[in-house]
Amino acid sequence: MTAPARPDDCIFCKIVEGEIPAEIVHADETTVAFRDLNPQAPTHVLVIPRSHYENAAELARHEPVSAADMLVVASEVAEREGLAPGYRLVFNTGLEGGQVVFHAHLHLLGGRPMGWPPG
Ligand code: AMP
Repeated sequence: MTAPARPDDCIFCKIVEGEIPAEIVHADETTVAFRDLNPQAPTHVLVIPRSHYENAAELARHEPVSAADMLVVASEVAEREGLAPGYRLVFNTGLEGGQVVFHAHLHLLGGRPMGWPPG
């Protein structure tokens, strides 16, 4: 399956390609993980697929292995970051879901008790 063309203005594609800097904590054939610029918890890492898809469902439809890899990578980063007591994984999806960057990404948040329901 060929990944869709990369939009010129996608900031996460630029991080994947090393065109803009990020504090990368993991990289492999399918995913890249880096620290969020505006952290909402002591640990706030974004796990993204290398391929550009607008959201997690589109990624899972076209590249289910990459979608599963994101979850495994998130758990490995969580373990390395000392988040054994627990953490939260979030896919903001669509404008009302709080999605701002339209390249699929998984938020890994931890290091403090996570409130519920989220805002
Ligand atoms: P979302 O609201 O789910 O689309 O999340 C996008 C996230 O990307 C936000 O938490 C931003 O702080 C984060 N973000 C945007 N640009 C960058 C960047 N260049 N490096 C790291 N994180 C970023």
